[in-house]
Amino acid sequence: MLMAGNWKMHKLASEARGLASNLRRALADIDRPVEVLLCPPFTALADVAAALADSPIQLGAQNLHWEEKGAFTGEVSGQMLKDIGCDYVIIGHSERRHIFGETDESVGKKIRAALSARLKAIVCVGETERQRDENETEAVVQRQVREGLAGLSAPEMASVAIAYEPVWAIGTGKNATPEQAQEVHALIRNLISESFGEAAASSLPILYGGSVKPDNAGELMSQPDINGALVGGASLDADSFETIVRAGVAAAGAIDK
Ligand code: PEP
Repeated sequence: MLMAGNWKMHKLASEARGLASNLRRALADIDRPVEVLLCPPFTALADVAAALADSPIQLGAQNLHWEEKGAFTGEVSGQMLKDIGCDYVIIGHSERRHIFGETDESVGKKIRAALSARLKAIVCVGETERQRDENETEAVVQRQVREGLAGLSAPEMASVAIAYEPVWAIGTGKNATPEQAQEVHALIRNLISESFGEAAASSLPILYGGSVKPDNAGELMSQPDINGALVGGASLDADSFETIVRAGVAAAGAIDK
């Protein structure tokens, strides 16, 4: 179970440090099998790394460039993220796909760059509202998973998590029902099984994201193929993120995942 907070473009470095310290205190009793991950903006990574030093809470970035170094003004490499203390990086978030034009091809290159920098990748997939209305959810998710992960080996899949984030549910307050989410999570697990084998599929963390809140987290996390959450808005407040993480802990305890 992986409970991740995506802080997007929120929090000055000092605010991020304060939130990370509060969460470290609040979640001091939480240990495996539940992993907690905080993904602040680039400018706050160093402060959050310092606030989390020697704690089990992990650090992640929200994006990276696929090259190791060079003339790429404004970009940050995987090695730079690793160097500052990141364990994870989010790749292909729908805001990056829809606002900044990322494609399945660039997502694939970023995944390979993350793995070669020894970062774990959280790969985001999900359909728009129009695609769901036109019954294209399965085709869209299948294409994003297949093209994003093309060329990876089964052992490399041990460093990958997938986040199913229906675009219509992100930041809108409309979450997928637990049944809608479970259906797509099961589809993703099948796709991974076909491409990488049963062992890679059964150990793959598949997170749900899209308006996860304290009052819906428990039901979502208790679905059999939901192995955690990628939380946006509700991760910006220590109390609400703590409640969501504890919902994950309760679900993990109840169904041993
Ligand atoms: C996200 O940023 O990945 C997300 C799911 O946002 P929210 O929880 O605010 O919908």
